[in-house]
Amino acid sequence: MLYRELAETYEKIEGTTKRLEMTDYLVELLKKTPHDIIDKVVYLTQGKLYPDFVGVELGLAEKLAVKAVALASGVSEKKVVELLYNYGDLGTVSEELLKKKRQKSLFSFNTDEKLSVEKVYENFVKIAGTEGSGSQDKKIKLLVELFNVATPREARYIARTVVGKLRLGIADMTILDALAAAFGDGKEHRKYVERAYNIHPDLGYIAKVLAAEGVEGVINIQIEVGVPIRAMLAERLPSLEEILKKMGGRAAFEYKYDGMRIQAHVTKDKTVLYSRRLENLTSQFPDVISAIGEAFKGDNAIFDGEAVPVDVNTGELLPFQMVSHRRGRKYGIEKIIDEIPVVLFLFDVLYLNGEDMTTKPYSVRRKALEEWITETDRVKFAHRIVSDNLDEIRLFFDKAIADGCEGLVAKNIGDESIYRAGAREFLWIKYKRDYRIELIDTLDLVVVGAFAGKGRRKGTYGALLMAAYNPDKDSFETVCKLGSGFTDEQLAGLPRMFEGLLLKERHPRVWSEIEADYWFVPRIVMEVVGAEITLSPTHTCARDVVEHGSGLAIRFPRFTGKWRDDKSPEEATTTKELVEMYRSQVKKVEK
Ligand code: ATP
Repeated sequence: MLYRELAETYEKIEGTTKRLEMTDYLVELLKKTPHDIIDKVVYLTQGKLYPDFVGVELGLAEKLAVKAVALASGVSEKKVVELLYNYGDLGTVSEELLKKKRQKSLFSFNTDEKLSVEKVYENFVKIAGTEGSGSQDKKIKLLVELFNVATPREARYIARTVVGKLRLGIADMTILDALAAAFGDGKEHRKYVERAYNIHPDLGYIAKVLAAEGVEGVINIQIEVGVPIRAMLAERLPSLEEILKKMGGRAAFEYKYDGMRIQAHVTKDKTVLYSRRLENLTSQFPDVISAIGEAFKGDNAIFDGEAVPVDVNTGELLPFQMVSHRRGRKYGIEKIIDEIPVVLFLFDVLYLNGEDMTTKPYSVRRKALEEWITETDRVKFAHRIVSDNLDEIRLFFDKAIADGCEGLVAKNIGDESIYRAGAREFLWIKYKRDYRIELIDTLDLVVVGAFAGKGRRKGTYGALLMAAYNPDKDSFETVCKLGSGFTDEQLAGLPRMFEGLLLKERHPRVWSEIEADYWFVPRIVMEVVGAEITLSPTHTCARDVVEHGSGLAIRFPRFTGKWRDDKSPEEATTTKELVEMYRSQVKKVEK
């Protein structure tokens, strides 16, 4: 097939903003494409070489593409850069320069040689795959080879594609429309094509199956371990009452962890991880891979879950930003893993020991998950309750927030509760607190205990147990574990600093339901900032004041670096002050 056919179609598509017209042009192109290269034509039209989850990008550095354009058109690089600055698009620049060259050398240009789709694709694959010394020159050569036989119009699209800027504005859904129209009856068959796309999001592959076997073939496409499935998403409703009603009065409520969604494809030899956007994350989370290997005893499976960083010393969940720098990193991962490990909270299983689980109801999937996974330090099940009681659900929501989660995801437990890949529907409904405010004021809290350090903090304290003062009861009531904001020096100095204050057991004026490893005389006051105040079932600060059975806690507390030597423990922030801060925070949100 001639690349000219593609370039002509692209030009037509560029000339319209109407989706229906775009679809028609695509249908026309697909119909005349030979079946054996239809996958390549689809990828090229998307500006790619493979589906995204393969993780191979064409994206040649613009600098190199400029060199190739200069060589192919016989002008200086400086001239190309200048034009690029004016046009803002290397495609147009290539087109213009080649036009001029061809006008000048009409006779020396071999018009017999025609560029095929196969040749363009082949050179692109080589460009993407060439590495190591001398690779830049090789890439330039491969591109020049294409420009030398390309028409100016073809050069426009080659240049754009090679630098990753084809941007025809064709969404995946438009390609699905076109495929269903080109090889099926359009509307009715579109459903099957879309289903196949949701469990096997590779448009080139689907096109090939359609072209070879028709809609029947597409209906037979199955889930495959190693090929990502489009993630099921949650709808939202504004209140827990409405959610419960929508769910038919009873549902599962799971913690909504605030981390990174991970779809894990596990076989005996290999585990591959995908993000919510189906990017391959395998190299960034070797720790997750070995953790799953330990926890899963079956042959093969696809799991859905959320990876969340944890503080090794407090055991508490951390904000996701703490591991976001793992993204896109291939080196130095080992060190990051030691410092901030992640826990994978599994909430679904989509495939298990050769069987498609997506068509089974939620309760069956959850049961299978619990049967085949053994919980470890690093792999856990999403915490959940199944309930029809609003009070119980509200308390569970508070607990989720206090435990560092965003809120809850309610899940339908009826027979219809299959895993709907790629869909955002009411089978899952999220309910979260969508505010995140830094506490305006700092707090002065009293150190009442400490926890033994782990990992890098071995030999010192990993975290301190902090309390607010309650003048009515003359007691110190716990409000958070503090493990962040210390310099290495400060950390190392902690045991000596508290040596003289060590007790055999909890001080009588300290009210704590948490067992610390070390207890201190409440004397030292530290300045702390936090993200917000939350209700907490474990901390004792202002217990029962705001809500029966709950105390208050500080979310994501951090030491400011300031020791408040000028304050006695009785001058620390009071439990009453914290209640006021909590209430004004709630009011702000309700406004
Ligand atoms: P948000 O920004 O609220 O996470 P989103 O568009 O990324 O929105 P939604 O489908 O609306 O995703 O919300 C569900 C998301 O919540 C999932 O993509 C997943 O990353 C996360 N999550 C955390 N815990 C759970 C859980 N127990 N069940 C399902 N999803 C969960």
